[in-house]
Amino acid sequence: MRAEIGIIGGTGIYDSDAFENIREISVDTPFGKPSDNIIIGDFAGKSVAFLPRHGRGHVYSPSKVPYRANIYALKKLGVERIISVAAVGSLKEEIRPLDIVIPDQIFDRTKHREDTFFEDIVIHVGMAEPFCNEMREITARVLEGLNLRYHDRGVYVCIEGPQFSTKAESNVYRKLGFDIIGMTALPEAKLAREAEICYITIATVTDYDVWKDVEVDVKTVLENAAKNEENVKRVLKELIPIIPEERGCECGDALKFAITTARDKIGEDVREKLGIFLNKYL
Ligand SMILES: [Zn+2]
Repeated sequence: MRAEIGIIGGTGIYDSDAFENIREISVDTPFGKPSDNIIIGDFAGKSVAFLPRHGRGHVYSPSKVPYRANIYALKKLGVERIISVAAVGSLKEEIRPLDIVIPDQIFDRTKHREDTFFEDIVIHVGMAEPFCNEMREITARVLEGLNLRYHDRGVYVCIEGPQFSTKAESNVYRKLGFDIIGMTALPEAKLAREAEICYITIATVTDYDVWKDVEVDVKTVLENAAKNEENVKRVLKELIPIIPEERGCECGDALKFAITTARDKIGEDVREKLGIFLNKYL
C-alpha cells in the first residue's frame, strides 16, 4: 500500500466524497502504533493518506500524540509530502479568527515530547527553514485563488499544553514577535525533516488567544472551527492536484551531510530500526 501525500489533522477535514478507492489500514512501526488507522484514497491521480492526529474520538492530548509512530508510518507508505492541518490562536491584531496562516518559522516551547528518531546514532539535521518552502508557495497560490483571507508567513510558537497560556506568557510571545500559537507543529516538523519528508502547516485561526481582552465564547470558537474545516477542505481539493510529481526543494536530502556517527559504528539493530531513513546513505 503506497501514498504520496500525507494529511495529518482532525477527522473533520477528511472528505470521503472527494476521494475514490478508499481503504483503511493499520500500520506498525518500531515506535509503536500511530494515532489511528490510516485512510488511503485516490484524488486527481494521486494517492493520499489521512491520519487523524489525536485519534478518532480525540483520545490523545497534544503531549501524548504518538508523533514518531505517525511520521514513521507515513514514511513507510512512501509519503514525500505532509500537509498538517492545525487550529491556532492569533497573537496579532491583523491575524483574525477564520484567517489561514502558512507559517515559515517555529519557536519550540514544548517540554515533554520525544522529538527525534535518532537516539542511537548521531544525526544533526538542519532546521533553519523548518517548513517546505516549495509547498508553502504552492499553498499560498491556492489560497489566493480561492479568495480566502491568509498570511503567507508567520512564526508559530508551539507550547506544551494542554493548558492554554497565561496572559503574561501570551504578552511575552507577542513582544517576541510571534504570530500564532498552537500545540502540535512540534515535534512533527522536526521528525518530518529527519524522515526527509516535506512538511507544511495550514494553520487555521479560531481565536485571539488570551492577550486581547475580548470575551471568548465557546459557541463562536466552535462555529469558527467548523467554518475553518470547510475552508481547509476547499484548499485541499485545489492543492492536491497541483503538487508537482518531482520535488523542487531540499527536504529530500536532509540527511545527506547530517550523519555524524561513523558508518562502521552503526550497529545492525540501528540499521534495522532506522533503515527506512538511512539505507540510501549506508
Ligand atoms: Zn520540500
